[in-house]
Amino acid sequence: MLDVAGLRKSFGSLEVLRGIDLSVAPQELVFVIGPSGSGKSTLLRCCNRLEEPDEGSIRVDGVELLDPKTDINAMRRRIGMVFQSFNLYPHMTVLSNVTLALRKALGKGRAEAREIGEAALARVGLADKVDAYPAQLSGGQQQRAAIARAVALEPKIMLFDEPTSALDPELVGSVLAVMRELREAGMTMVVVSHEMRFARDAADRVVFMDHGAIVEQGPPEQVFGAPEHARTRSFLADFA
Ligand code: ATP
Ligand code: MG
Repeated sequence: MLDVAGLRKSFGSLEVLRGIDLSVAPQELVFVIGPSGSGKSTLLRCCNRLEEPDEGSIRVDGVELLDPKTDINAMRRRIGMVFQSFNLYPHMTVLSNVTLALRKALGKGRAEAREIGEAALARVGLADKVDAYPAQLSGGQQQRAAIARAVALEPKIMLFDEPTSALDPELVGSVLAVMRELREAGMTMVVVSHEMRFARDAADRVVFMDHGAIVEQGPPEQVFGAPEHARTRSFLADFA
């Protein structure tokens, strides 16, 4: 589904990704952990070409994202991105936030976009907030609306960059519950997060990054229970 090979990215003289190889199978949930500055966000951003890699290959469903002939805007619609900050438009209702790309990018008519948008919002538990404005929602509800916005475009894969980091602790659970449901519905997902409990229950694979490289990876019970690398152990010790 997602195949990253030999991915390199520098900012000036700072090498941020130093040859990343990562394959994500259909319906797999890959959970990425690592210290601040290790390149996790840059990796996700490259997978949507929000960042231009210097070298390597990124294939989504067999299509090379770095090929100049690839229609990157068409591909971006199929790669759902959810960030720490929800980036909802404050002057638009929740439903309009969700239907905007459906109408503008996919060219759906008003009625069809509304139907898809309402279904996506119902899926994240926001059926009763369709006509609310973002400021009337809690942070957890806003993040669920942002997830609905991505889901409505029927992405092939969803990339989450610390989706719960900006939330008050009591709001985190509702967002993780939505992510768990997506996973159960068969969505392919890459999740950068510090929610280790969620990783233990929901991840197929945990990837530990440090200094722009994948240091180790494996099933959660292996990486958390018996990490092979000293750097992984010392990182995880901070979360014990
Ligand atoms: P965190 O856990 O703090 O979110 P991260 O693993 O997501 O960290 P990145 O955001 O990918 O790390 O950043 C990796 C390195 O690249 C950092 O040293 C960061 O300062 C640097 N970096 C990221 N974006 C840029 C940019 N646009 N220009 C220059 N340096 C950047
Ligand atoms: Mg980051």
